[in-house]
Amino acid sequence: MCGVLGVYDNEEVIGKIYDAMLTIQHRGQDSAGILTYDGKYHLKKGNGLVRDIFDQQNIARLKGHVGIGHTRYPTVGEGSVEDAQPFWINYPFGIAAAHNGNVTNFSELKKELFEKSHKIINSNCDIEVILNIFAGYIEKYRTKEFTPEIVFNAVRYVYKKVKGSYSVVLHIADKGMVAFRDPYGLRPLLFGEKKDKLLPAFAFASESVALDAMGFKDIKDIDSGSAVFIDKAKRVHIKKIMTKPFRPCIFEYIYFARPDSFLNGINVDKTRVELGCRLAKKIKKSGVEIDVVVPVPDSARTAAIEIARRLKLKYREGLVKNRYIGRTFIMPGDKIRKKSITQKLNPIGDVFIGKNVLLVDDSIVRGNTSAAIIQMVRNAGAERIYFASYSAPLTNPCVYGIDMQTKGEFIATNSTPEQIAAKIGADKVIYQDLKEMEQAVRQGNKKIKTFCKACFTGVYPTHDVSRKLLERIEEERDINKANQIAAGI
Ligand code: 5GP
Ligand code: SF4
Ligand code: MG
Repeated sequence: MCGVLGVYDNEEVIGKIYDAMLTIQHRGQDSAGILTYDGKYHLKKGNGLVRDIFDQQNIARLKGHVGIGHTRYPTVGEGSVEDAQPFWINYPFGIAAAHNGNVTNFSELKKELFEKSHKIINSNCDIEVILNIFAGYIEKYRTKEFTPEIVFNAVRYVYKKVKGSYSVVLHIADKGMVAFRDPYGLRPLLFGEKKDKLLPAFAFASESVALDAMGFKDIKDIDSGSAVFIDKAKRVHIKKIMTKPFRPCIFEYIYFARPDSFLNGINVDKTRVELGCRLAKKIKKSGVEIDVVVPVPDSARTAAIEIARRLKLKYREGLVKNRYIGRTFIMPGDKIRKKSITQKLNPIGDVFIGKNVLLVDDSIVRGNTSAAIIQMVRNAGAERIYFASYSAPLTNPCVYGIDMQTKGEFIATNSTPEQIAAKIGADKVIYQDLKEMEQAVRQGNKKIKTFCKACFTGVYPTHDVSRKLLERIEEERDINKANQIAAGI
Protein backbone atom coordinates (compact mmCIF):
# COMPACT_ATOMS: atom_id res chain seq x y z
CA MET A 1 0.00 0.00 0.00
CA CYS A 2 1.21 3.46 -0.78
CA GLY A 3 0.11 7.06 -0.88
CA VAL A 4 0.11 9.11 -4.04
CA LEU A 5 -0.34 12.81 -4.84
CA GLY A 6 -0.42 15.00 -7.93
CA VAL A 7 -0.70 18.79 -8.10
CA TYR A 8 -1.32 20.90 -11.20
CA ASP A 9 -1.14 24.48 -10.04
CA ASN A 10 -0.33 28.08 -10.97
CA GLU A 11 2.31 28.65 -8.32
CA GLU A 12 5.24 26.83 -6.73
CA VAL A 13 3.92 23.50 -5.41
CA ILE A 14 6.67 22.12 -3.21
CA GLY A 15 5.37 23.63 0.06
CA LYS A 16 1.90 22.17 -0.47
CA ILE A 17 3.15 18.80 -1.60
CA TYR A 18 5.46 18.50 1.37
CA ASP A 19 2.59 19.25 3.79
CA ALA A 20 0.31 16.81 1.99
CA MET A 21 3.00 14.10 2.06
CA LEU A 22 2.84 14.21 5.85
CA THR A 23 -0.91 13.50 5.70
CA ILE A 24 -0.34 10.31 3.70
CA GLN A 25 2.75 9.19 5.60
CA HIS A 26 0.70 6.43 7.31
CA ARG A 27 0.17 4.83 3.86
CA GLY A 28 3.87 4.09 3.52
CA GLN A 29 6.85 4.68 5.74
CA ASP A 30 9.47 2.80 3.81
CA SER A 31 10.46 5.44 1.27
CA ALA A 32 9.13 8.63 -0.27
CA GLY A 33 9.70 10.89 -3.24
CA ILE A 34 8.66 14.20 -4.75
CA LEU A 35 9.04 15.19 -8.39
CA THR A 36 8.36 18.70 -9.71
CA TYR A 37 8.33 20.20 -13.20
CA ASP A 38 9.28 23.69 -14.40
CA GLY A 39 10.31 22.86 -17.95
CA LYS A 40 12.43 20.03 -16.66
CA TYR A 41 11.94 17.40 -14.02
CA HIS A 42 13.40 17.74 -10.53
CA LEU A 43 13.34 14.67 -8.32
CA LYS A 44 14.26 13.72 -4.79
CA LYS A 45 13.51 10.33 -3.32
CA GLY A 46 14.96 8.26 -0.54
CA ASN A 47 14.35 5.63 2.09
CA GLY A 48 12.69 6.51 5.36
CA LEU A 49 10.13 9.03 6.53
CA VAL A 50 9.21 12.21 4.66
CA ARG A 51 10.68 14.42 7.40
CA ASP A 52 14.03 12.60 7.13
CA ILE A 53 14.31 12.62 3.33
CA PHE A 54 13.61 16.26 2.51
CA ASP A 55 15.79 19.11 3.74
CA GLN A 56 16.11 22.81 2.87
CA GLN A 57 18.56 22.08 0.07
CA ASN A 58 16.48 19.62 -1.90
CA ILE A 59 13.26 21.52 -1.18
CA ALA A 60 14.86 24.60 -2.76
CA ARG A 61 15.76 22.53 -5.81
CA LEU A 62 12.22 21.13 -6.31
CA LYS A 63 10.88 24.00 -8.42
CA GLY A 64 7.74 24.21 -10.52
CA HIS A 65 3.97 24.53 -10.61
CA VAL A 66 3.47 20.81 -11.17
CA GLY A 67 4.35 18.02 -8.78
CA ILE A 68 3.90 14.36 -7.96
CA GLY A 69 4.48 12.86 -4.51
CA HIS A 70 4.61 9.33 -3.20
CA THR A 71 4.97 7.49 0.09
CA ARG A 72 5.90 3.86 -0.26
CA TYR A 73 5.05 0.71 1.57
CA PRO A 74 6.83 -2.13 -0.19
CA THR A 75 4.84 -5.10 -1.41
CA VAL A 76 7.29 -6.42 -3.97
CA GLY A 77 10.95 -5.60 -4.24
CA GLU A 78 13.43 -5.30 -1.44
CA GLY A 79 12.44 -1.81 -0.44
CA SER A 80 15.56 -0.37 -2.09
CA VAL A 81 15.71 3.30 -3.01
CA GLU A 82 15.81 2.27 -6.67
CA ASP A 83 12.21 1.14 -6.31
CA ALA A 84 11.09 4.40 -4.71
CA GLN A 85 8.66 6.57 -6.69
CA PRO A 86 7.96 8.81 -8.63
CA PHE A 87 9.59 7.62 -11.86
CA TRP A 88 10.09 9.61 -15.05
CA ILE A 89 11.20 8.95 -18.61
CA ASN A 90 12.35 11.48 -21.18
CA TYR A 91 10.65 10.12 -24.28
CA PRO A 92 8.11 10.84 -25.68
CA PHE A 93 7.61 14.39 -24.32
CA GLY A 94 8.82 13.55 -20.80
CA ILE A 95 6.40 11.57 -18.66
CA ALA A 96 6.45 11.16 -14.88
CA ALA A 97 4.26 8.96 -12.70
CA ALA A 98 3.54 7.40 -9.33
CA HIS A 99 0.97 4.85 -8.26
CA ASN A 100 -0.68 2.97 -5.44
CA GLY A 101 -1.50 -0.70 -5.86
CA ASN A 102 0.06 -3.95 -6.97
CA VAL A 103 0.44 -5.19 -10.54
CA THR A 104 0.01 -8.97 -10.54
CA ASN A 105 1.50 -9.61 -14.00
CA PHE A 106 4.55 -7.38 -13.44
CA SER A 107 7.15 -10.02 -14.37
CA GLU A 108 5.40 -10.95 -17.63
CA LEU A 109 5.07 -7.30 -18.62
CA LYS A 110 8.69 -6.55 -17.75
CA LYS A 111 9.79 -9.44 -19.96
CA GLU A 112 7.46 -8.43 -22.79
CA LEU A 113 8.66 -4.81 -22.73
CA PHE A 114 12.22 -6.01 -23.11
CA GLU A 115 11.60 -8.66 -25.76
CA LYS A 116 9.08 -6.81 -27.92
CA SER A 117 9.91 -3.14 -27.39
CA HIS A 118 13.57 -3.34 -26.34
CA LYS A 119 12.84 -1.40 -23.18
CA ILE A 120 14.71 -2.20 -20.03
CA ILE A 121 12.81 -1.96 -16.75
CA ASN A 122 15.39 -1.02 -14.23
CA SER A 123 13.48 -1.47 -10.99
CA ASN A 124 11.07 -3.85 -9.32
CA CYS A 125 8.51 -1.10 -9.20
CA ASP A 126 5.15 -1.56 -10.91
CA ILE A 127 4.93 2.04 -12.01
CA GLU A 128 7.98 1.73 -14.25
CA VAL A 129 6.09 -0.89 -16.23
CA ILE A 130 2.84 1.12 -16.34
CA LEU A 131 4.77 4.22 -17.37
CA ASN A 132 6.51 2.43 -20.23
CA ILE A 133 3.30 0.84 -21.48
CA PHE A 134 1.53 4.21 -21.43
CA ALA A 135 4.48 5.91 -23.13
CA GLY A 136 4.70 3.12 -25.71
CA TYR A 137 1.18 3.94 -26.78
CA ILE A 138 1.38 7.73 -27.00
CA GLU A 139 4.76 7.56 -28.72
CA LYS A 140 2.91 6.73 -31.94
CA TYR A 141 1.06 10.08 -31.73
CA ARG A 142 3.99 12.27 -30.80
CA THR A 143 3.92 14.23 -34.06
CA LYS A 144 0.11 14.52 -34.19
CA GLU A 145 -2.06 17.09 -32.50
CA PHE A 146 -2.26 16.07 -28.85
CA THR A 147 -5.88 15.40 -27.82
CA PRO A 148 -7.61 13.98 -24.70
CA GLU A 149 -8.61 10.98 -26.86
CA ILE A 150 -4.96 10.01 -27.24
CA VAL A 151 -4.59 10.04 -23.46
CA PHE A 152 -7.77 8.02 -22.93
CA ASN A 153 -6.76 5.45 -25.54
CA ALA A 154 -3.38 5.10 -23.85
CA VAL A 155 -5.16 4.44 -20.53
CA ARG A 156 -7.40 1.90 -22.28
CA TYR A 157 -4.23 0.21 -23.54
CA VAL A 158 -2.87 0.12 -19.98
CA TYR A 159 -6.15 -1.41 -18.75
CA LYS A 160 -5.88 -4.15 -21.37
CA LYS A 161 -2.32 -5.08 -20.46
CA VAL A 162 -1.94 -4.42 -16.74
CA LYS A 163 -3.58 -6.72 -14.19
CA GLY A 164 -4.09 -6.12 -10.50
CA SER A 165 -4.76 -2.87 -8.70
CA TYR A 166 -3.41 0.55 -9.57
CA SER A 167 -4.35 4.15 -8.96
CA VAL A 168 -2.02 6.25 -11.08
CA VAL A 169 -1.06 9.92 -11.27
CA LEU A 170 0.91 10.83 -14.36
CA HIS A 171 2.30 14.04 -15.87
CA ILE A 172 3.04 14.56 -19.55
CA ALA A 173 5.45 17.45 -20.02
CA ASP A 174 3.71 20.50 -21.49
CA LYS A 175 0.57 18.47 -22.20
CA GLY A 176 -1.13 17.99 -18.85
CA MET A 177 -1.79 15.76 -15.89
CA VAL A 178 -3.65 12.45 -15.97
CA ALA A 179 -5.02 10.31 -13.16
CA PHE A 180 -6.73 6.95 -13.48
CA ARG A 181 -8.05 4.14 -11.35
CA ASP A 182 -7.95 0.45 -12.32
CA PRO A 183 -11.12 -1.04 -13.86
CA TYR A 184 -12.33 -2.43 -10.49
CA GLY A 185 -11.42 0.68 -8.50
CA LEU A 186 -9.58 -1.41 -5.93
CA ARG A 187 -7.40 1.37 -4.62
CA PRO A 188 -8.75 4.85 -3.84
CA LEU A 189 -7.99 8.03 -5.80
CA LEU A 190 -9.65 11.41 -5.51
CA PHE A 191 -9.34 14.82 -7.06
CA GLY A 192 -10.09 18.36 -6.01
CA GLU A 193 -10.15 21.80 -7.53
CA LYS A 194 -9.57 25.36 -6.44
CA LYS A 195 -9.46 28.78 -7.99
CA ASP A 196 -6.55 31.14 -7.38
CA LYS A 197 -7.28 34.60 -8.72
CA LEU A 198 -9.71 33.00 -11.18
CA LEU A 199 -7.10 30.51 -12.38
CA PRO A 200 -8.16 26.94 -11.70
CA ALA A 201 -5.77 24.48 -10.07
CA PHE A 202 -6.18 20.74 -9.54
CA ALA A 203 -4.86 18.01 -7.31
CA PHE A 204 -5.13 14.23 -7.00
CA ALA A 205 -4.57 12.10 -3.91
CA SER A 206 -5.06 8.66 -2.37
CA GLU A 207 -7.02 10.14 0.52
CA SER A 208 -9.23 13.20 0.82
CA VAL A 209 -7.24 14.38 3.84
CA ALA A 210 -4.30 15.24 1.55
CA LEU A 211 -6.53 17.42 -0.62
CA ASP A 212 -7.94 19.12 2.50
CA ALA A 213 -4.39 19.85 3.64
CA MET A 214 -3.58 21.54 0.33
CA GLY A 215 -6.76 23.62 0.38
CA PHE A 216 -8.48 21.92 -2.56
CA LYS A 217 -12.29 21.88 -2.63
CA ASP A 218 -15.02 20.10 -4.59
CA ILE A 219 -13.38 16.79 -3.76
CA LYS A 220 -14.61 13.85 -5.82
CA ASP A 221 -13.59 10.22 -6.23
CA ILE A 222 -12.30 9.16 -9.60
CA ASP A 223 -14.62 6.46 -10.87
CA SER A 224 -13.30 2.93 -11.39
CA GLY A 225 -11.99 2.30 -14.91
CA SER A 226 -11.95 6.07 -15.50
CA ALA A 227 -9.37 8.71 -16.25
CA VAL A 228 -9.24 12.43 -15.58
CA PHE A 229 -7.09 14.53 -17.88
CA ILE A 230 -6.31 18.16 -17.08
CA ASP A 231 -4.92 19.70 -20.24
CA LYS A 232 -2.40 22.50 -20.56
CA ALA A 233 -5.16 25.12 -20.59
CA LYS A 234 -6.49 23.57 -17.35
CA ARG A 235 -9.60 22.19 -18.99
CA VAL A 236 -10.92 19.03 -17.34
CA HIS A 237 -11.68 15.94 -19.43
CA ILE A 238 -13.20 12.88 -17.73
CA LYS A 239 -13.90 9.55 -19.35
CA LYS A 240 -15.16 6.15 -18.26
CA ILE A 241 -12.94 3.84 -20.25
CA MET A 242 -13.63 0.32 -19.01
CA THR A 243 -16.68 -1.00 -17.16
CA LYS A 244 -16.10 -3.74 -14.62
CA PRO A 245 -17.84 -4.27 -11.29
CA PHE A 246 -16.77 -1.58 -8.81
CA ARG A 247 -14.91 -3.34 -5.97
CA PRO A 248 -13.08 -0.90 -3.70
CA CYS A 249 -10.90 -2.42 -0.96
CA ILE A 250 -12.85 -2.88 2.28
CA PHE A 251 -9.68 -3.05 4.36
CA GLU A 252 -8.99 0.67 3.74
CA TYR A 253 -11.85 1.50 6.12
CA ILE A 254 -10.86 -1.08 8.69
CA TYR A 255 -7.19 -0.41 9.10
CA PHE A 256 -5.41 1.56 6.45
CA ALA A 257 -6.94 4.97 5.83
CA ARG A 258 -6.91 7.93 8.19
CA PRO A 259 -10.16 8.40 10.15
CA ASP A 260 -10.67 11.92 8.81
CA SER A 261 -10.60 10.74 5.19
CA PHE A 262 -13.52 10.14 2.89
CA LEU A 263 -13.02 7.37 0.33
CA ASN A 264 -15.68 6.49 -2.24
CA GLY A 265 -18.06 8.79 -0.38
CA ILE A 266 -17.56 6.94 2.91
CA ASN A 267 -16.03 8.54 5.99
CA VAL A 268 -13.53 6.23 7.65
CA ASP A 269 -14.19 7.34 11.23
CA LYS A 270 -17.96 7.02 10.90
CA THR A 271 -17.46 3.52 9.51
CA ARG A 272 -15.36 2.53 12.51
CA VAL A 273 -18.10 3.82 14.85
CA GLU A 274 -20.58 1.63 12.96
CA LEU A 275 -18.21 -1.35 13.14
CA GLY A 276 -17.97 -0.83 16.91
CA CYS A 277 -21.73 -0.58 17.22
CA ARG A 278 -22.30 -3.88 15.43
CA LEU A 279 -19.55 -5.69 17.29
CA ALA A 280 -21.00 -4.47 20.60
CA LYS A 281 -24.17 -6.45 19.89
CA LYS A 282 -22.18 -9.62 19.35
CA ILE A 283 -20.12 -9.07 22.50
CA LYS A 284 -23.33 -8.57 24.48
CA LYS A 285 -24.73 -11.84 23.15
CA SER A 286 -21.56 -13.70 24.15
CA GLY A 287 -22.42 -12.94 27.78
CA VAL A 288 -18.85 -12.18 28.91
CA GLU A 289 -18.44 -10.04 32.05
CA ILE A 290 -16.27 -7.03 31.28
CA ASP A 291 -14.87 -4.42 33.69
CA VAL A 292 -13.01 -2.24 31.22
CA VAL A 293 -12.71 -1.74 27.43
CA VAL A 294 -9.20 -0.93 26.16
CA PRO A 295 -8.27 -0.22 22.52
CA VAL A 296 -5.07 -1.33 20.82
CA PRO A 297 -3.95 2.10 19.62
CA ASP A 298 -4.41 3.79 17.19
CA SER A 299 -6.83 2.38 14.63
CA ALA A 300 -9.09 0.55 17.12
CA ARG A 301 -9.78 3.59 19.30
CA THR A 302 -12.95 4.79 17.55
CA ALA A 303 -14.62 1.37 17.54
CA ALA A 304 -13.60 0.66 21.15
CA ILE A 305 -15.16 3.93 22.36
CA GLU A 306 -18.40 2.98 20.61
CA ILE A 307 -18.36 -0.55 22.06
CA ALA A 308 -17.92 0.84 25.57
CA ARG A 309 -20.68 3.42 25.01
CA ARG A 310 -23.14 0.85 23.68
CA LEU A 311 -22.43 -1.65 26.45
CA LYS A 312 -22.31 1.07 29.15
CA LEU A 313 -18.82 -0.02 30.18
CA LYS A 314 -15.76 1.87 31.38
CA TYR A 315 -13.35 2.87 28.59
CA ARG A 316 -9.69 3.40 29.37
CA GLU A 317 -6.56 4.01 27.31
CA GLY A 318 -4.62 1.27 29.06
CA LEU A 319 -1.93 0.84 26.41
CA VAL A 320 0.33 3.80 25.72
CA LYS A 321 1.94 3.96 22.32
CA ASN A 322 5.35 5.47 21.79
CA ARG A 323 4.62 7.60 18.76
CA TYR A 324 8.29 8.30 18.07
CA ILE A 325 9.10 4.78 16.97
CA GLY A 326 9.05 4.49 13.21
CA ARG A 327 10.78 2.10 10.89
CA THR A 328 13.96 4.12 11.20
CA PHE A 329 14.22 2.79 14.73
CA ILE A 330 15.26 -0.56 13.34
CA MET A 331 18.69 0.36 12.10
CA PRO A 332 20.48 -1.70 9.46
CA GLY A 333 23.02 -3.92 11.12
CA ASP A 334 20.93 -4.12 14.25
CA LYS A 335 20.33 -7.80 13.56
CA ILE A 336 19.87 -9.00 17.09
CA ARG A 337 17.15 -6.61 18.09
CA LYS A 338 13.74 -7.87 17.14
CA LYS A 339 11.02 -5.36 16.56
CA SER A 340 9.34 -5.96 19.83
CA ILE A 341 5.90 -4.81 20.75
CA THR A 342 7.22 -3.71 24.14
CA GLN A 343 9.19 -0.96 22.41
CA LYS A 344 5.97 0.33 20.96
CA LEU A 345 3.37 -0.19 23.69
CA ASN A 346 3.42 0.02 27.46
CA PRO A 347 0.54 -0.91 29.79
CA ILE A 348 -0.84 1.29 32.55
CA GLY A 349 -0.92 -1.15 35.47
CA ASP A 350 -3.86 0.44 37.32
CA VAL A 351 -6.18 -0.08 34.38
CA PHE A 352 -5.61 -3.82 34.35
CA ILE A 353 -4.94 -5.11 37.89
CA GLY A 354 -7.62 -7.65 38.84
CA LYS A 355 -9.86 -6.65 35.93
CA ASN A 356 -11.74 -8.50 33.20
CA VAL A 357 -10.51 -6.66 30.15
CA LEU A 358 -11.95 -6.38 26.65
CA LEU A 359 -9.10 -5.53 24.27
CA VAL A 360 -10.30 -4.19 20.92
CA ASP A 361 -8.23 -4.26 17.74
CA ASP A 362 -9.02 -3.71 14.07
CA SER A 363 -7.82 -7.13 12.96
CA ILE A 364 -5.80 -10.19 13.77
CA VAL A 365 -3.35 -11.01 11.00
CA ARG A 366 -0.51 -13.26 12.08
CA GLY A 367 -1.46 -13.15 15.74
CA ASN A 368 2.02 -12.17 16.92
CA THR A 369 1.05 -8.66 17.96
CA SER A 370 -2.11 -9.82 19.68
CA ALA A 371 -0.25 -12.58 21.55
CA ALA A 372 2.41 -10.12 22.74
CA ILE A 373 -0.20 -7.57 23.83
CA ILE A 374 -2.19 -10.19 25.70
CA GLN A 375 0.97 -11.34 27.49
CA MET A 376 1.73 -7.74 28.39
CA VAL A 377 -1.76 -7.17 29.78
CA ARG A 378 -1.59 -10.42 31.76
CA ASN A 379 1.75 -9.40 33.22
CA ALA A 380 0.11 -6.11 34.19
CA GLY A 381 -2.30 -8.09 36.38
CA ALA A 382 -5.47 -8.58 34.32
CA GLU A 383 -7.82 -11.31 35.52
CA ARG A 384 -9.50 -12.28 32.25
CA ILE A 385 -8.68 -11.03 28.75
CA TYR A 386 -11.21 -11.01 25.92
CA PHE A 387 -9.90 -10.01 22.52
CA ALA A 388 -12.32 -8.46 20.02
CA SER A 389 -11.52 -7.84 16.36
CA TYR A 390 -13.82 -5.40 14.61
CA SER A 391 -13.07 -7.08 11.30
CA ALA A 392 -13.89 -10.68 10.36
CA PRO A 393 -11.17 -13.39 10.37
CA LEU A 394 -8.45 -12.70 7.81
CA THR A 395 -7.63 -15.90 5.96
CA ASN A 396 -6.40 -15.11 2.44
CA PRO A 397 -3.50 -13.24 0.90
CA CYS A 398 -4.01 -9.79 -0.58
CA VAL A 399 -2.55 -9.56 -4.07
CA TYR A 400 -3.73 -5.97 -4.50
CA GLY A 401 -1.18 -4.12 -2.44
CA ILE A 402 -1.70 -4.75 1.27
CA ASP A 403 1.22 -6.49 2.86
CA MET A 404 -0.51 -9.77 3.68
CA GLN A 405 0.60 -12.07 0.95
CA THR A 406 1.16 -15.56 2.15
CA LYS A 407 -1.43 -18.03 3.30
CA GLY A 408 0.71 -19.14 6.22
CA GLU A 409 0.62 -15.61 7.62
CA PHE A 410 -2.94 -15.90 8.85
CA ILE A 411 -3.62 -17.32 12.25
CA ALA A 412 -7.31 -17.70 11.36
CA THR A 413 -6.71 -20.05 8.41
CA ASN A 414 -8.30 -23.37 9.38
CA SER A 415 -8.75 -22.30 13.01
CA THR A 416 -11.85 -21.60 15.07
CA PRO A 417 -12.03 -18.53 17.36
CA GLU A 418 -11.53 -20.94 20.30
CA GLN A 419 -8.33 -22.30 18.76
CA ILE A 420 -7.14 -18.78 17.99
CA ALA A 421 -7.86 -17.72 21.58
CA ALA A 422 -5.73 -20.63 22.79
CA LYS A 423 -2.90 -19.70 20.41
CA ILE A 424 -2.77 -16.03 21.37
CA GLY A 425 -3.45 -16.65 25.07
CA ALA A 426 -6.84 -14.93 25.31
CA ASP A 427 -9.75 -16.20 27.40
CA LYS A 428 -11.99 -15.58 24.41
CA VAL A 429 -11.72 -14.13 20.92
CA ILE A 430 -14.74 -12.38 19.42
CA TYR A 431 -14.72 -11.54 15.72
CA GLN A 432 -17.04 -9.28 13.78
CA ASP A 433 -19.23 -11.29 11.39
CA LEU A 434 -18.32 -10.80 7.75
CA LYS A 435 -21.84 -9.73 6.81
CA GLU A 436 -22.02 -7.17 9.61
CA MET A 437 -18.59 -5.87 8.64
CA GLU A 438 -19.63 -5.29 5.05
CA GLN A 439 -22.95 -3.74 6.02
CA ALA A 440 -21.19 -1.37 8.39
CA VAL A 441 -18.91 -0.09 5.63
CA ARG A 442 -21.71 0.04 3.04
CA GLN A 443 -23.77 2.15 5.41
CA GLY A 444 -21.74 5.16 4.24
CA ASN A 445 -22.54 4.67 0.55
CA LYS A 446 -25.29 2.27 -0.38
CA LYS A 447 -24.58 2.78 -4.08
CA ILE A 448 -21.59 0.48 -3.66
CA LYS A 449 -23.01 -3.01 -4.16
CA THR A 450 -20.07 -4.81 -2.63
CA PHE A 451 -16.37 -4.42 -1.91
CA CYS A 452 -13.21 -6.37 -2.52
CA LYS A 453 -13.03 -8.55 0.57
CA ALA A 454 -10.80 -11.25 -0.88
CA CYS A 455 -8.57 -11.40 2.20
CA PHE A 456 -11.65 -12.47 4.17
CA THR A 457 -13.27 -14.75 1.58
CA GLY A 458 -10.64 -15.87 -0.95
CA VAL A 459 -12.84 -14.55 -3.79
CA TYR A 460 -10.71 -12.21 -5.87
CA PRO A 461 -12.83 -9.70 -7.82
CA THR A 462 -10.45 -9.54 -10.81
CA HIS A 463 -11.01 -13.30 -11.41
CA ASP A 464 -7.41 -13.74 -12.55
CA VAL A 465 -5.76 -14.81 -9.32
CA SER A 466 -4.74 -18.41 -9.84
CA ARG A 467 -3.19 -20.79 -7.35
CA LYS A 468 0.00 -20.50 -9.41
CA LEU A 469 0.06 -16.74 -9.00
CA LEU A 470 -0.47 -17.04 -5.24
CA GLU A 471 2.38 -19.54 -5.04
CA ARG A 472 4.65 -17.27 -7.04
CA ILE A 473 3.89 -14.26 -4.85
CA GLU A 474 4.63 -16.42 -1.83
CA GLU A 475 7.99 -17.44 -3.31
CA GLU A 476 8.93 -13.85 -4.19
CA ARG A 477 8.04 -12.79 -0.69
CA ASP A 478 10.15 -15.49 0.91
CA ILE A 479 13.13 -14.39 -1.21
CA ASN A 480 12.55 -10.77 -0.18
CA LYS A 481 12.39 -11.75 3.45
CA ALA A 482 15.59 -13.76 3.18
CA ASN A 483 17.31 -10.79 1.50
CA GLN A 484 16.07 -8.41 4.16
CA ILE A 485 17.34 -10.65 6.93
CA ALA A 486 20.71 -10.96 5.15
CA ALA A 487 20.88 -7.16 4.87
CA GLY A 488 20.02 -6.82 8.53
CA ILE A 489 16.83 -4.88 7.87
P1 5GP B 1 -0.83 -9.58 14.06
O1 5GP B 1 -2.09 -10.28 14.29
O2 5GP B 1 -0.34 -9.73 12.65
O3 5GP B 1 0.26 -9.92 14.98
O4 5GP B 1 -1.08 -8.04 14.24
C1 5GP B 1 -2.29 -7.43 14.00
C2 5GP B 1 -2.06 -5.96 14.11
O5 5GP B 1 -1.44 -5.52 12.91
C3 5GP B 1 -3.32 -5.15 14.28
O6 5GP B 1 -3.11 -4.31 15.37
C4 5GP B 1 -3.45 -4.32 13.04
O7 5GP B 1 -3.72 -2.98 13.37
C5 5GP B 1 -2.12 -4.40 12.38
N1 5GP B 1 -2.25 -4.60 10.93
C6 5GP B 1 -3.31 -4.98 10.24
N2 5GP B 1 -3.04 -5.02 8.93
C7 5GP B 1 -1.78 -4.65 8.78
C8 5GP B 1 -0.96 -4.48 7.65
O8 5GP B 1 -1.33 -4.66 6.50
N3 5GP B 1 0.31 -4.07 7.90
C9 5GP B 1 0.75 -3.83 9.16
N4 5GP B 1 2.01 -3.42 9.32
N5 5GP B 1 -0.01 -3.98 10.24
C10 5GP B 1 -1.27 -4.39 10.05
FE1 SF4 C 1 -8.29 -4.89 0.35
FE2 SF4 C 1 -8.34 -7.39 1.28
FE3 SF4 C 1 -9.08 -6.84 -1.23
FE4 SF4 C 1 -6.53 -6.66 -0.49
S1 SF4 C 1 -7.76 -8.51 -0.57
S2 SF4 C 1 -7.67 -5.20 -1.76
S3 SF4 C 1 -6.73 -5.88 1.61
S4 SF4 C 1 -10.08 -6.16 0.67
MG1 MG D 1 -3.21 -1.96 15.19
